[in-house]
Amino acid sequence: MEYRRLGSTGLKVSALSYGAWVTFGRQVGRSEARELIALAYDHGVNFFDNAETYNAGDAERLMGDVIADLRLPRDAYTVSSKVFFGAVKDPKPTQRGLSRKHVFDACHQALDRLRVDYLDLYFCHRADPDTPILETVLAMDTLVRQGKVMYWGTSEWAASEIEEAHRLAREHHLIAPSMEQPQYNLLHRERFEQEYAALYERYGMGTTIWSPLASGLLTGKYNDGIPDNSRMGHADYAWLRESLLGNDGARLETVRSLAPIAADLGIPLARLSLAWCLKNPNVSTVILGASRTSQLEENLKALDAARLLDDAVMGRIEAALSR
Ligand code: NDP
Repeated sequence: MEYRRLGSTGLKVSALSYGAWVTFGRQVGRSEARELIALAYDHGVNFFDNAETYNAGDAERLMGDVIADLRLPRDAYTVSSKVFFGAVKDPKPTQRGLSRKHVFDACHQALDRLRVDYLDLYFCHRADPDTPILETVLAMDTLVRQGKVMYWGTSEWAASEIEEAHRLAREHHLIAPSMEQPQYNLLHRERFEQEYAALYERYGMGTTIWSPLASGLLTGKYNDGIPDNSRMGHADYAWLRESLLGNDGARLETVRSLAPIAADLGIPLARLSLAWCLKNPNVSTVILGASRTSQLEENLKALDAARLLDDAVMGRIEAALSR
């Protein structure tokens, strides 16, 4: 495993990490979750990603239960939560958003569900137009000073909102956000590469990137239809299917055009896609998703594959993406 600094912080996170989003508590039960976390940890993964909203808190409960059962040493792994969407169906007004109240309540609930004394990373899962940014920065600052959170950050905030959080933190002598969690993959690059371009250097912003395989699209498994037992075949994820596949077939066309590059390197497309994310020096960690151990075993090979992506290969990938 390779370890990278989370931006300009002193925290070293594994370049490949593992997240629980739609899998834990739905596609993945307790015994599978235990195997997946054990496999990841044994391969050097030291960051496990979660959020209050994932399966309405069940993903955190399951992860906390499994990590406790595996007796992972608390000082050898990092775990996150995210606040914004709430942890219950139909949340009441105080049960979601980034008000001081919900940020505090959600933190305490996540600590309880994950069975830890502190969160290593705590993200504002989206920006909240109904809460002044200063209120949220103050709440996060307090949690860090109380020792309940080590590093706080944002997820899918506009660059201007991240800049504002830094400006307010500087002005009021508060602890500024350390990291952002954006989507980044071969099919979704603009925000990470362009909108955020100035922020990496200016604020030492680290990144924990999500959906590196665009929910599996970048494995090529959807090229000829939707396989049974796959995320997009799941009845609950129709909304995801529509947003991922679109209706003009253009994204699948791009995926197909990448396949020969992976074939020439003798690696699966999933590995190429993950290796491409790892090549970007502004990526601190690529959060893998996997619904079974065979996928995780495959995806953990991406670090070795990154070495195969020289300038010529990267050029071929660019050409395929801009067709
Ligand atoms: P990916 O884009 O890598 O998608 C993972 C899914 O793709 C798996 O669950 C599996 O789905 C399929 N898959 C993965 N590897 C393979 C393989 N080798 N062969 C075939 N199929 C494969 O990541 P996620 O979308 O899961 O995102 C990763 C993490 O990022 C999440 O768990 C979460 O922690 C975080 N996240 C954060 C968000 C945010 O807003 N901050 C939003 C979304 C995710 P299946 O088997 O079901 O087809």
